[in-house]
Amino acid sequence: MRLDNSENAWLGYSKIDRKEIQELTDSYIKFLSKCKTERECVKEAVAMAKKAGYKDLRTIVEDNIRLKSGDKVFVDIMGKAVVLFNLGNEPFVNGMNILGAHLDSPRLDLKQNPLYEDGGMAYLNTHYYGGIKKYQYVTIPLALHGVVAKTDGTTIEITIGEEDDEPVFTVTDILIHLASEQMEKKMSKGVEGESLDLLAGSIPLKAKEKDPVKQNILKILKDKYMIDDGDFMSAEIEAVPAGKARTLGFDESMVLSYGQDDRVCAYTSLVAFLATEDVERTGVCLLVDKEEIGSVGATGMRSRLFENALAEVMNAAGAYSELDMRRALQNSKMLSSDVSAAFDPLYASVFDKMNSAYFGHGVVFNKYTGSRGKSGSNDANAEFMAEIRSILDARNVRYQTCELGKVDAGGGGTIAYIMALYGMDVIDCGVAVLSMHAPYEVTSKSDIYEATKAYRAFLLA
Ligand code: MN
Ligand code: MN
Repeated sequence: MRLDNSENAWLGYSKIDRKEIQELTDSYIKFLSKCKTERECVKEAVAMAKKAGYKDLRTIVEDNIRLKSGDKVFVDIMGKAVVLFNLGNEPFVNGMNILGAHLDSPRLDLKQNPLYEDGGMAYLNTHYYGGIKKYQYVTIPLALHGVVAKTDGTTIEITIGEEDDEPVFTVTDILIHLASEQMEKKMSKGVEGESLDLLAGSIPLKAKEKDPVKQNILKILKDKYMIDDGDFMSAEIEAVPAGKARTLGFDESMVLSYGQDDRVCAYTSLVAFLATEDVERTGVCLLVDKEEIGSVGATGMRSRLFENALAEVMNAAGAYSELDMRRALQNSKMLSSDVSAAFDPLYASVFDKMNSAYFGHGVVFNKYTGSRGKSGSNDANAEFMAEIRSILDARNVRYQTCELGKVDAGGGGTIAYIMALYGMDVIDCGVAVLSMHAPYEVTSKSDIYEATKAYRAFLLA
């Protein structure tokens, strides 16, 4: 086992370090408690960026403003992804230092025709998003977050189930007394995706013969939220674990929360980015959507969202040509941040202890991810990893390397390979997580701190 206590970052912290960790993770916990969807994250990120002096790129373009080094701009992409630029002293063609992470997290999405009544109760039908162990989503309080787009062009934002006086929702499970058949099933079949429906009401509407409980819910939706039955067709409503993020452990060293994959990397990247004022190479912070379902769609990394934004920024800076943009992309370097699996002693058999990430041992680098022989991975260059080591060593940042489990135990992917398509140096890094993709995931406060320091060091390199 490679783990050696002397490597534990907590042992080396000064009083000042501990105070910084406390401040950083307090604000991180607030962020997680408030932002549970990609839209909510973008809204908050844009507000934070504006506060730090970032201007909307669309206004810059409309007003024909010439961008110069030191200028800071952001692009909001459909309210679900955001790209920030901090223009450096060096020309674009020299390349950029890019931080990337994703804002979407696994959850249950309401279907387009969700509401039904059965057995005298009303339910909301869902379709899960991303990789979940379905049995983890039963019998916990769930809140609804999302938007309802009306045909008149207005959009209603919804959050139900986060305040103490608001109702929550849940997916029921069969009682243990009657579960003998269920308990014999494979875990993947014990709770089926189609039965992940939210219990949403039980009072019938008077004088209604057909589906009176459903009718009552429709009445409440109309009266309270101005939503009609048909409006679900043009809605995006996500059922997520209700309640706040919390500190975990007697020593208060960890964070327990929904959505840390990948908001732990998104938040730390953003905080480091906004705190970094003057840079030599242009800095970019990319916070994207849809990673959990393959980076698809207009707001996922596989769309041209970044390239389009870069073209506008270079144009506004009087530096655009197709060739120069290609050079800028190819000469860039990127930390593609996503969570990695922390070593879990309770499930030690799926890890290679020599190549695992440990809590309190710093930001994690994955030279490669993928599965079945690194398939689907980016596999960063040794030379780039060496460069990263020297950058982090110079600023005393704690880091470790790991693989996502032992060989052939499973695997996973990130957005790294997509940015590598431009021919730039990209490496996967991020924060180690326990119970990844579960309704409540665990991270180490020390690793959150070291990740933030690493991002800052990289932007200044
Ligand atoms: Mn992720
Ligand atoms: Mn994930």
